[in-house]
Amino acid sequence: MYDLVIHNAKVVTEKGIVEANLAILDGKIANILPVMAECEEPSQLPESKEVIDAKGCYLLPGGVDAHTHLDMPLSNGLKSADDFVSGTIAAAVGGTTTVIDYACQDANGTLMEALTEWKKKAKGACVDYGMHMSIVRADDQTLSEMADMVSQGVTSFKTYLVYDMRLSDEELYRVLERSANLGTIVTVHCENYGVLQYRTKKLLAEGKCEPKYHAVSRPDRCEGEAVNRVLQISAMADMAPVYIVHNTCRESIKCIEESRSMGHPVFAETCPQYLLLDDSKYELEPEECVKYVMSPPLRSKADQHYLWEALKNGTVKVVATDHCPFSLAEKKRGLHNFTEIPNGGTGVEERIPLMYSEGRKHGLSYVEIAKLTATNPAKLFGMYPRKGTIRIGSDADLVLYDPDKTVTITHDILHENVDYTCYEGMTVEGYPVMTLLRGQILAKDGSFTGKMGQGQYVRRDLP
Ligand SMILES: [Zn+2]
Repeated sequence: MYDLVIHNAKVVTEKGIVEANLAILDGKIANILPVMAECEEPSQLPESKEVIDAKGCYLLPGGVDAHTHLDMPLSNGLKSADDFVSGTIAAAVGGTTTVIDYACQDANGTLMEALTEWKKKAKGACVDYGMHMSIVRADDQTLSEMADMVSQGVTSFKTYLVYDMRLSDEELYRVLERSANLGTIVTVHCENYGVLQYRTKKLLAEGKCEPKYHAVSRPDRCEGEAVNRVLQISAMADMAPVYIVHNTCRESIKCIEESRSMGHPVFAETCPQYLLLDDSKYELEPEECVKYVMSPPLRSKADQHYLWEALKNGTVKVVATDHCPFSLAEKKRGLHNFTEIPNGGTGVEERIPLMYSEGRKHGLSYVEIAKLTATNPAKLFGMYPRKGTIRIGSDADLVLYDPDKTVTITHDILHENVDYTCYEGMTVEGYPVMTLLRGQILAKDGSFTGKMGQGQYVRRDLP
């Protein structure tokens, strides 16, 4: 006797789409029974306490968003708008069942203190979650603690080349070397700090202070240079596996392509905002323009095209969100000085509908989109095959997706705790109509129906 059978779904597995009845027991996928003519009668279904009829719908693996910033404090006293409750409710309704957020080491603190603090913040999470660990100080103690993180289920580290938490090249080298030794992976935010600082100072001195100049301060080569540097340093540091977050442009992708072709373990992420929005947003009135101030900034249409190609040819393996919104009032603090705009945008709820709708228009299949949004991040970050795939034995993290449901995205239909969405007015063809986490229904028809605190911490294995 199963707990639940999802009847007649087009099940999106890694190998292809199968019409099947999917049976769930104790929160796991217990069986995938291809539909045959003789078992289409309900009486022929496997015995189960509950049945969901999924006719006409696809069954997708629950989304894995490997890049969110929930409840994240900035040095200016602001905090990202979504905490682990609102952010994961939004994730659930939008078809994401696991997020990997960033525990962030304090300037004087240890990694263990940071992990404890972030796990406390995440107590109310409604989807499952893992933690990357942000390293802001690569001293002997921190390097030694990296091994303790692995035993805590943290198998990836985050480093920044910009902001207050940036590492020097020497520090980055040491983190990479240590990571290679431990078998973990280092994720890196790549921009050239010196160049963008100088350009910023110069712009402000020239009276070019409006929001649109944020993008001018950090052009594509600022990112490309940093990506290239990280790839060269990781190659020197025992060929340490490295994951470049939020790639936006040709300048960074072409470096990654070259490194990958030489067999370096280099992995690339991009985000829906870089695939679907472009720098024409910076020509809008400053009050509108602030919504799109993020780092790295939106790029040209040509870069967008390059990113879609990189998804198709496998150079970019992951589409995550970098979800880090701030209220419009907070964004508008920098109307007259772009350096005072808190950076970041929305996406945790919009990612799955956007990627399945727009991805298919760009020639990606359901199976390919499932890999980009669930399977690949689960594999890279040590959650596979428990997460990110529909196969027997995996967690029953599932999304029922209606390909015929057309939705116009507006901020008032979303559950993100913020008064705008970067995708206002965009129409998507197809939408998640039900989300299940470990066999429990979390969201239905655009509403959250689960419980606060239902999410669990996922201990990750070495990939
Ligand atoms: Zn980020």
